[in-house]
Amino acid sequence: MRRPGIICNSCCNRLSLRVAVNPSVERYREQFRKEEIGGAYRGRLHLLFTSAVSLSVVAWCILSLDQVKPLEWLTIPAVFIYANLVEYFGHRYPMHHPVKGLKILFFRHTKQHHRFFTDKEMTFANSRDYKAVLFPPEMIVFFLGGFGLPMWVALYFLVSANVAWLALGMALAYFINYEWLHWAYHCDPQSRVGRIPGVQALRTLHLHHHDPSLMSHYNFNITYPIGDWIFRTLYDVKGQRS
Ligand SMILES: [Zn+2]
Ligand SMILES: [Zn+2]
Repeated sequence: MRRPGIICNSCCNRLSLRVAVNPSVERYREQFRKEEIGGAYRGRLHLLFTSAVSLSVVAWCILSLDQVKPLEWLTIPAVFIYANLVEYFGHRYPMHHPVKGLKILFFRHTKQHHRFFTDKEMTFANSRDYKAVLFPPEMIVFFLGGFGLPMWVALYFLVSANVAWLALGMALAYFINYEWLHWAYHCDPQSRVGRIPGVQALRTLHLHHHDPSLMSHYNFNITYPIGDWIFRTLYDVKGQRS
């Protein structure tokens, strides 16, 4: 039984003293845990599965490259920017507004993730709470088969094998970077993970996004705020709005 105000942040391998979670957020968290997290769920295994699948695909893509031409290397920055904008627009619109056919994204993000974590309560209570952040494993398989494979086939036959491998590898590298960063933002900021250089600043941007009064307007990039900078929706670490 957890005592009020003492929370075990097992993701971060430490105990920390923090202010108790707001009662209405805590009520929602208990409801989410009861309805959405099965008894057999293991958060660390979930994180390990996502990481292992993504890194295996990235490694496979790297090993498949063969005498890459200078122009083909441009696939990496092109996919990086494209992925950043997909992250931005996907988060700004279907994840924050109910869109026909994509309402599951709105439900999972605005109705669940934002209720589970607010800017005042950003931290996992334990590793079972990873379920409220990480994409479900079946969705990773669905995205790989539904989007990754067709993209790889199209580029392989229409452009070149190297471009196909670089694009797939970069897409998966971006995805796992997204998952790791978002997970890190919801770890204890005083933990080893939370104190990694760069994570603190990026976490602050995401913390602003979890403020209910700002979430529909600012900081839609979860990773690097390129889309927010371009489209002037950045609420920076100092609280300055663009
Ligand atoms: Zn979040
Ligand atoms: Zn959001």
